[in-house]
Amino acid sequence: MLEIIQLPVLTDNYIYIIHEPNSKETAVVDPAIAQPVFDLLNNNGWRLNYILNTHHHSDHVGANLEIKNKTDCQIIGFEKDQKRIPGIDIKLKQGDEVKLGSQIAKVIETPGHTLGHIVYYFSDSDALFCGDTLFSMGCGRLFEGSAEQMWYSLQRLKSLPKQTKIYCAHEYTQANSQFALTLEPDNKQLDDRIKEVNNLRAANKATIPTSLEQELMTNPFLREDSLTLQQSIDMIGMPVIDVFRKIRQLKDSF
Ligand code: ZN
Ligand code: FE
Repeated sequence: MLEIIQLPVLTDNYIYIIHEPNSKETAVVDPAIAQPVFDLLNNNGWRLNYILNTHHHSDHVGANLEIKNKTDCQIIGFEKDQKRIPGIDIKLKQGDEVKLGSQIAKVIETPGHTLGHIVYYFSDSDALFCGDTLFSMGCGRLFEGSAEQMWYSLQRLKSLPKQTKIYCAHEYTQANSQFALTLEPDNKQLDDRIKEVNNLRAANKATIPTSLEQELMTNPFLREDSLTLQQSIDMIGMPVIDVFRKIRQLKDSF
């Protein structure tokens, strides 16, 4: 199993340090800034082997070069985005595997938020590092891709095992939950989740990781096929991609 440590940084970003205890191999996912990563590595006596990037935005690759210079780690990212990932050493394709000791991540291409977005799925640890593709009760804004591309990307994530833990890159949960509630005011699981989230945030605690199971019940961007949700936006029986596009538009102006 992976040991996973979550570092809250900047306003609402999460950096993840992942460590495989048998091999002692260690990686950092989407380092926005360097110092908290250095501190964590020092405190644990870990040597950094890899940076795993999900996409090129500066709040995900900002510390790539500083960390590489100091730790001599290798930087791993998407082949199609190699020009935008600073210091990239290992270029991945859809379906490739990344090994961290005994733990293997499958690389899944998820265009939408950006065109060169990938996620890392460690099946033996039930852990998905999904950057800005899927959030708790939300999904990434469509800066580069189309609604159709994002919908297909989310279908890929939807098909993972329900117990998969979702390690996304931002604490956007509370704001997302307020939007989700406007679409499904009668969703009991959503109501329960909102109470939990409000309690966690009041105590300054993280709402992440969430689970795929939780998201399937509460995330409007995974519920475009729900009749009650379709009804609330007057789109019953419409093509699911059109419903998804509409939900994304509504969220953009919420
Ligand atoms: Zn981003
Ligand atoms: Fe981001």
